[in-house]
Amino acid sequence: MHYQAQYDVIVVGGGHAGTEAALAAARMGCNTLLLTHNIDTIGQMSCNPAIGGIGKGHLVKEIDALGGLMARAADQGGIQFRTLNSRKGPAVRATRAQADRSLYKAAVRHGVENQPNLQLFQQAVDDLIIEGERVTGVITQGGLHFMAPSVVLTVGTFLAGRIHVGEANHAGGRAGDPPATRLAERLRELAPRVGRLKTGTPPRLDARSIDFDRVSEQPGDTPTPVFSFIGSAAQHPRQISCHITWTTPRTLDIIRDNLHRSPMYSGVIEGIGPRYCPSIEDKVVRFADKERHQIFIEPEGLDTHEIYPNGLSTSLPFDVQVQVVRSIEGFEQAHIIRPGYAIEYDFFDPRDLKPSLETRAVQGLFFAGQINGTTGYEEAGAQGLVAGINAARRVRDQDAWCPRRDEAYIGVMIDDLITRGTGEPYRMFTSRAEYRLTLREDNADLRLTPAGRELGVVDDARWAAFAAKREAIERETARLERVTLKPGRVPEDQAQALFGGALTRDCSLLELLRRPGVGYAELTALADAGPPVQDPRVAEQVEIQVKYAGYIERQKDEVARSRRLEDTALPENLDYQAVAGLSHEVRQKLAEHRPATVGQASRIPGVTPAAVSLLLVHLKKQS
Ligand code: FAD
Repeated sequence: MHYQAQYDVIVVGGGHAGTEAALAAARMGCNTLLLTHNIDTIGQMSCNPAIGGIGKGHLVKEIDALGGLMARAADQGGIQFRTLNSRKGPAVRATRAQADRSLYKAAVRHGVENQPNLQLFQQAVDDLIIEGERVTGVITQGGLHFMAPSVVLTVGTFLAGRIHVGEANHAGGRAGDPPATRLAERLRELAPRVGRLKTGTPPRLDARSIDFDRVSEQPGDTPTPVFSFIGSAAQHPRQISCHITWTTPRTLDIIRDNLHRSPMYSGVIEGIGPRYCPSIEDKVVRFADKERHQIFIEPEGLDTHEIYPNGLSTSLPFDVQVQVVRSIEGFEQAHIIRPGYAIEYDFFDPRDLKPSLETRAVQGLFFAGQINGTTGYEEAGAQGLVAGINAARRVRDQDAWCPRRDEAYIGVMIDDLITRGTGEPYRMFTSRAEYRLTLREDNADLRLTPAGRELGVVDDARWAAFAAKREAIERETARLERVTLKPGRVPEDQAQALFGGALTRDCSLLELLRRPGVGYAELTALADAGPPVQDPRVAEQVEIQVKYAGYIERQKDEVARSRRLEDTALPENLDYQAVAGLSHEVRQKLAEHRPATVGQASRIPGVTPAAVSLLLVHLKKQS
């Protein structure tokens, strides 16, 4: 049989990276194909049914600001919403949604199926077609040829995947899905810097067998947070609570007594696991002095009894899993529906990627998601979006696009990956960003939607909503500057609360808002303050911009100072041997990493400020 079809962009894998990549390329007008093992698993959450959290929520908002789907799917699938760090500063506040696994998946499937320019096809990809140094298409398990000048691989944990439960292990991409073995072999030939990583998931429990009287309830926040900048709480399904319980001393004893049966400790698993999402056996070993560990009891959906016990990820043998689960408060009678397991898989060194996420080895071939050493839906979705955009731009002979570190967490993540690589599954944290006061969740649209509009990934409806919001912020800020409170016009009790005494001089509302302890809500309670804005997102933005103006300006100055290095490009074929004065070690590192800019070079471990100066001198001489 010979079958061949031509596309502009082919995306392999219908997970979180793949769906965002395919949607972005299609939004940009490219004739796009999403090829995946199984159309019924598009948008499947392999591990916990939750979106967002600290650092991750920032990525979701940025994906949304660039027209992506993840936040909208979370709004349609979220059954418990919270704002984490709500009492801390706006930079570290983060939205998290517990999702109904089925509703989330259905929202993604709906988005993908209804995207113009995007076609779906179900079949495993086994091979790539490469002509010279360029990819020109893919070959499926059934021998079908799909051709395209840009191919994005987003195959998650499936490359040479091996599933472990205690002493038993077998090949698999995740529970219930096949691994991508032939493709893994082919990629190992093309991109030799390959490693193994590991991740794990907890056993799932039947809610009817849990004693909810013995655990504490954790309701969502009111008013309910919303993920998408164009979403509303009215889109959310029914909201329910999560719960919290704790391990007991017996839990820890059982784990310690059985560590030798865990594939992680018996040496069977070589891959390194996620530091910030460790298995319960890892926690017991690493935090040996901790007497108990918290377990979040998270519902998997509205129409199922299945529970995800977050914090109980394990690859211990099943008989031990049963003992561990039943030693936990409230779980004494718990029935396990699915065993926990660990999975080991291939990932490719992200230092072999360009900032566009195109591989250096093969032109037109892009990698996004777990294949690059990251962990998490949000990290995958964000990379998918960038890879999809650049796959489309490549087809049109346009320059690659990637946000800078001072523009987006997406930029921080990609820069970290391509300049430093990763030895363990990489997840996002706010602490990874040096400019986090400007990279907030609340202003992701102001930072990125204009760029998204220019790239062609932001549609008319989103753009109109964004433009109206931006104008409302400007209008309200100008109004606050204009409206002035006069002495004697503010009632005594309010003046006491706002100024610590009587108002003695004219004071603009803007000035008043800058005072500690005064928020937008306090302003609007004043009789002379005039009508407040109705949209709480506009009010929030005005308040943050006014209150933090000084700090934000200072951060902008820092960004401007570092911009010189960030904007100085390093030619791809630069001969580092020819740069006078560099040490052998630095030359080797630069040649190996091939940074795109001097700024990137400066972040490679071992590249000193003196080496950066030598690079700048060399570039000046060349120009
Ligand atoms: P996936 O979501 O894995 O999607 C890959 C897609 O590619 C699938 O649709 C698959 O069918 C398809 N595919 C694969 N090979 C082929 C092929 N050859 N041809 C066609 N289609 C193919 N993340 C966390 O943040 N914390 C955790 O604790 C955590 N634990 C996890 C535990 C387990 C057991 C697993 C499996 C994952 C876990 N994750 C965790 C990771 C999270 O699921 C991933 O980070 C995220 O799903 C990665 O998205 P992705 O799009 O890169 O890949």
